[in-house]
Amino acid sequence: MKLVCVDCSAERSWREFSMACSCGGRLEVVQDLSRVDGERLKTLFHERLAERMSVYASGVWRYKELIFPELPEEYIVTKFEGNTGLYTSEPIRRKLGIRELYFKAQSENPSGSFKDNGMTVAVSHGRSLGYNRFACASTGNTSSSLAMYAAMGECTSQVYVPNRSISMNKVLQTLAYGAQVIRFDGTYDDGIRFLEQHGAELGLYVCNSVNPFRIEGQKSIIYETAQNLNWELPDWILIPGGALSNVSALGKGLRDLKNLGMIDKVPRIALIQAEGASPFHRMMAAGKEQLTPETHPATKASALNIGNPPSWQIARRVLQLCQGVTCSVSDEEILASKRMIDQSGIGCEPASAATLAGLSKLLNDQTIGKEESALCILTGNLLKDTEILAETTDEMLHSGLAHVTDEVVSS
Ligand SMILES: *Cc1c(COP(=O)(O)O)cnc(C)c1O
Ligand SMILES: [Zn+2]
Repeated sequence: MKLVCVDCSAERSWREFSMACSCGGRLEVVQDLSRVDGERLKTLFHERLAERMSVYASGVWRYKELIFPELPEEYIVTKFEGNTGLYTSEPIRRKLGIRELYFKAQSENPSGSFKDNGMTVAVSHGRSLGYNRFACASTGNTSSSLAMYAAMGECTSQVYVPNRSISMNKVLQTLAYGAQVIRFDGTYDDGIRFLEQHGAELGLYVCNSVNPFRIEGQKSIIYETAQNLNWELPDWILIPGGALSNVSALGKGLRDLKNLGMIDKVPRIALIQAEGASPFHRMMAAGKEQLTPETHPATKASALNIGNPPSWQIARRVLQLCQGVTCSVSDEEILASKRMIDQSGIGCEPASAATLAGLSKLLNDQTIGKEESALCILTGNLLKDTEILAETTDEMLHSGLAHVTDEVVSS
């Protein structure tokens, strides 16, 4: 395993930490999979489903050979993340009229979001290099996840969280795990910039979305889904896009599986953004080559409130490779879809519901055919944003009953 700059192709060892290449380019993990036998791996991954206490009981480390083969087990900090449900919902499927529909509930991760899939790998990598102080800038879920793993690994964490447009639940969860929370006036993008400039001098291992080890860990979402579906993936995978790290990981994971012959057909990806924070969709829809950042992103789906997604180049490459599409949906559409997902019993936070809203839209304009199959990746937990829940469930509360038996029986 080595790190390679996506701009100038310079290589470096994974045994040193740096946020970027000296040319400023992004670093990507490159693994030599030429001697890996895909069929043998399928058998190994299947056998590991019986593990209970070892690191291989984790839904990330089960796939260690494809994620971080060189890392000594003693450095791994795990909460048996992944291992999340793959569901169908007949009422939603019928309403949309699509042949086959799945939901992958990454919301069931230990800190309540898919960020755990990547964070277990980044924190484990940092510990293997001797770091005991970790940091990130976050709209919320990244910080809760980092705070949780840092605490589990007996390390400290420092997180930079914008003052506005974030969910208080996520900040409270982060504080509860013992992190030092630094609030600031500005956006997520400002927090990233600060850590890029000062992380190294402060001796911090930085776990931002571009951290290449987080991306490696997030590939497990597609490995686990493929394994659950006996290595046959649906025609479409829908995923919400904020910083665009998850779609980058998804593309990378699909490429691994295809190259190793573990899947025959690569699904198409539909990347869904919230209208108020959709610089990537606007660039793709206009056929432009350069992303124009949004300086005032605004969506109620706080996990998607990112105006300058750091991974847009990789995301564009991913979509080109798998004939992907993009689309944007309004906050109203997101909240209506969220209600459907919540009432199906699966549940999710607003950002995740962008997937279902996008699916409706793409079925309507016939980008996705009703005879096809689709999978929505639900990224975060229902209880991650109780402010939105309070707003949207208010009228559902029966209020003002004086005598519970009489009035309920007579109504
Ligand atoms: C982080 C996050 C996203 C966005 O993922 P990116 O990798 O930033 O595109 C979507 N939903 C939830 C719940 C998240 O926490
Ligand atoms: Zn470079």
